[in-house]
Amino acid sequence: MKNQSVLVEDGKIAEVGAGAVKSADETIDCEGKIVLPGLINTHTHLAMTLFRGLADDMKLEEWLKSRIWPLELKLTPEMCHYGALLGCLEMMATGTTTFLDMYFFMDEVAKAVVTAGLRAYLAFGAIGEEGSALELASKQNTKQFIKFLKELNNPLLKPAVGPHAPYSCSPELLMWSKEVAEKEHALLHTHIAETRTEQAQAQKDLGMREVEYLDKLGFLSPNLLAAHCVWLTKSEVSTLAKRDVKVSHCPVSNMKLASGGVAPVPEMLESGVTVSIGTDGAASNNSLDMFESMKICALVHAAHRWDPKILPAQRILDIATIEAAKALGIGDRIGSIEIGKQADLIIIDTRTPNMAPLSEENVISNLVYSTNGHNVDTTIVDGKTVMKNREFLTLKENTIYEKTAEYALALTKQNR
Ligand SMILES: [Zn+2]
Repeated sequence: MKNQSVLVEDGKIAEVGAGAVKSADETIDCEGKIVLPGLINTHTHLAMTLFRGLADDMKLEEWLKSRIWPLELKLTPEMCHYGALLGCLEMMATGTTTFLDMYFFMDEVAKAVVTAGLRAYLAFGAIGEEGSALELASKQNTKQFIKFLKELNNPLLKPAVGPHAPYSCSPELLMWSKEVAEKEHALLHTHIAETRTEQAQAQKDLGMREVEYLDKLGFLSPNLLAAHCVWLTKSEVSTLAKRDVKVSHCPVSNMKLASGGVAPVPEMLESGVTVSIGTDGAASNNSLDMFESMKICALVHAAHRWDPKILPAQRILDIATIEAAKALGIGDRIGSIEIGKQADLIIIDTRTPNMAPLSEENVISNLVYSTNGHNVDTTIVDGKTVMKNREFLTLKENTIYEKTAEYALALTKQNR
């Protein structure tokens, strides 16, 4: 829509229409700019910003075992707090207003997100073999974190239950997680079929593929948002559709970790699976810029299928906004600029070389193929401006840069 105004009242979109809004306490002039619903990142590990550039050029299994797990052992709550602040800073700078995060020291992550003023679903990353101390600790941490969020009582933060993956969690832990998610009205979040190695291992250990295994367990449900889903058969795709499982497609991370295959996103969409986009953590991306992920998502499928029409720009933009909102179960509350929805808005500066020339003809194309996150000028979450004219209003960026540089240095020193 052209030459429209958006009125925000009490955190919600109260009016959308042509011409000037009757009256407002504050007016942001968007002349020559584009107002979009805030982007939604449905899979990330915020505090992994601390590992940015520290674990490149490796396959997932080597990346985890030789680099990430040893680094994670050294993490402290304070480090995760600042790592999460850096993640929030990058997200608001690049137009993401809502995200789904899974990690540990989640109390500290939650506090960082509250300071930033972003909307988030947060999960403690649970792991553990049957009957292990780790499994017990995961359950305790999950319950404790849900209690922490309830007491925090911040309307922007919602709990998610996050059993890490079918290969790192016992069946008991997976099903316990599902039950807790149902009881607490929380989202269920996990990783599925990220690599071929993982699927081969599942066939060896369980005698079946991961989706089949999870379905037999009774784990799959409409409340589940599964990250990756790269190495799936057609039958697994139809099982996901049948169980109404939502998917977070992470094209950049999958390419960087050389997962090899390309997630069957066209088949998922055709089967009716709700697909969204995740950046994954900054150790496997290495940015949290959803504009970049949108473009790469479009390119990887066109290249892989030899079909430039397979995922058009408008579809990609929908996937990163309204479809992602549906994936989180809040399609009626965010994801588009409509009266009654929460005012999660971003304003894009179009007076930049990469956006010109701009017309009604190419605006969607420019947003997906030539915009990058740093074209975002202003970010508004729940009606509150968190970045205005590229100035951060809720976060002290220099302190965050200094602290995270100090921690990254400490982590690599200890790791040598
Ligand atoms: Zn992940």
